[in-house]
This record gives sequence, structure tokens and C-alpha cells, in this order.
Amino acid sequence: MRADGLAGRTALITGAGSGIGRAVAVALAAAGARVIVAGRTAATLEQTVKLADEATAVWGGESLVRGQSWAPAVAAGAQAHIADVTDPAAVRALLVAVEREHGGLDIAVNNAGRPSWGPVARIAPAEWDAVLGVNLTGVWLCLQHELDLMRRSGGGAVVNIVSRLGIPTREENQNAYAASKAALSILTRTAAREYVGSGIRVNAVSPGPTDTAMTVWDQETPAERDERVARTVPIGRLAAPAEIAAAVRWLVSDEASYVVGHDLVVDGGLSA
Ligand code: NAP
Repeated sequence: MRADGLAGRTALITGAGSGIGRAVAVALAAAGARVIVAGRTAATLEQTVKLADEATAVWGGESLVRGQSWAPAVAAGAQAHIADVTDPAAVRALLVAVEREHGGLDIAVNNAGRPSWGPVARIAPAEWDAVLGVNLTGVWLCLQHELDLMRRSGGGAVVNIVSRLGIPTREENQNAYAASKAALSILTRTAAREYVGSGIRVNAVSPGPTDTAMTVWDQETPAERDERVARTVPIGRLAAPAEIAAAVRWLVSDEASYVVGHDLVVDGGLSA
């Protein structure tokens, strides 16, 4: 892809204050996109805005966090918006702001997610609801508004961040998380079929174990984590968030113009 392959495009990334979402924001900004990062924590989003703006020398940077007054007619550089993806009003307000400030949306990366671990019989109902609320319902809420805005803007590209645990897996203790991600993979395909006629490509990326807060286990040292990963992942190491972001960047680019409803597994050979 050309270095400026996403120039002129507006991209929304949820859960972009850390990990994979932050790496996606930086990768899309480096490719020329104007990125809008959303999440629940202003401080981490502001950090992502800074990194995204550093990645693009040409497009400059400013930030907008709800409650502050900066609101130009035509925004430049990365922006941050506070939005909890489980809150329908917040998601609606986010997409209204995107349309008002940018006139449309070209790229959406639904990345916000949370982990869950434990045996089927032990998961508390509140935990079950919380995991499905973010990983599945939250993406669906975002999709509703994103797809509507893209359809009215003349097309676009969506990537949902699923998980290799959402594809057939026999791993124990991942039940609520794996169920949420499996359902999201299917939602990705049905949305893809519904919207391809409107010029919108909906796809997914399913990462394997990636070097973010999500793979840091309680009571485990970094050395123990490296040893666990070396033992269990065929490639012998965690993915860097930038390696997942590279797959997302390709899927939203014109180079993937015939790729629709695909769940791209990037897992170091785990599911091979
Ligand atoms: P992470 O660093 O913990 O990122 C998760 C992000 O989601 C955080 O920035 C968090 O920010 C945000 N978030 C959580 N709940 C939210 C909500 N209700 N509304 C808005 N934002 C919310 O972990 P990560 O590994 O980068 O995870 C990113 C995605 O990759 C997730 O969907 C995860 O399931 C998926 N994934 C990760 C791995 C892995 O090994 N790391 C593997 C497969 C799939 P705030 O708390 O500030 O809102």
C-alpha cells in the first residue's frame, strides 16, 4: 500500500486508548487517515491522539474530549471522544459528532473489548452480561450507526476485532469471551452480506495472543508469560499490536477491495 493510501479518509476506532486499538489508530494515521479515537478514559485517548499525530507529520493534530470547547467546522488531525460502547446514547452522540465534524465516515474499526475467564458454572450473570455487553452488543450498537452513516456517505470499510477464540476452539474457561467473539464473527458476516450492495465492506480480524494488558495474567511474571507463550503458540511469541494493526490497515484499504465478510485470523499458527 502507498504510504498515504488512506489519505482523505475519516476513520473511527473504538477502544483506542491502549493495545490493539491504539496501534490501529497510529497505523491508519500513518497511512494518511484522519483518525477519531473513542473509549472511556480521556487520558489514554489523549496519549493515542499524540502518537497518531506524531505518526503523520503532514496532517497535524488537535483533540476534542467531550466537555471541552474545541469544535472547528473542519477538523484536522486525530481527535478523541469519550464514549462507552455499551451506552446507546453515547454511541449515537459519538456518530452524530463524527458526521457533524467530518461530514461522513469512511472507516470504522470496532475494537473495544474486555476479557473474561472462568468455568461455565462459575460465571456470575453480571459478568456474562458485561462481557457480551461490550464484545457483542457494543459492536452491534456501533455498527448500526456506522453503517447508516457510511451508506449515506456513499460507502466505506468496517473491521470488527474478533479473536481466534471466536473460531472453533476447545479451550477451557473462555466461555463467555469465546461466545461473545463467535457471535461477533457471525454478525460480521451477516452485516457484510446486507451492506455490500451499499458499497460497504464489513470484515473482521481475529488476533491470537497479543502483547497488551489483556494477556497479562495475575500472579505471572513477564518471564513466565514469555515461557507460557513459547510453549503454546506455534510461532513462539506474542503478536505485537502493530502486527494486528497491519492486517486491519490492509483490510480497510483499497488493496482489499474484493474482500467482504472475511474473518482474517492473525494468530501465529495457533489455529493452523
Ligand atoms: P486492551 O488494551 O485492554 O484494550 C481494550 C480497550 O477497550 C481499552 O482501551 C478499553 O479502554 C476499551 N474498552 C473496554 N470497554 C469499553 C467500553 N465499554 N466502551 C469503550 N471502550 C471500552 O486490550 P487489547 O488486547 O488491545 O484488546 C483490543 C481488542 O482485541 C478486544 O476486542 C479484544 O477482545 C481483542 N483481542 C485481544 C487479544 C489479545 O491477545 N490481546 C486477542 C484476541 C482479540 P477504556 O477501559 O479506557 O474504555
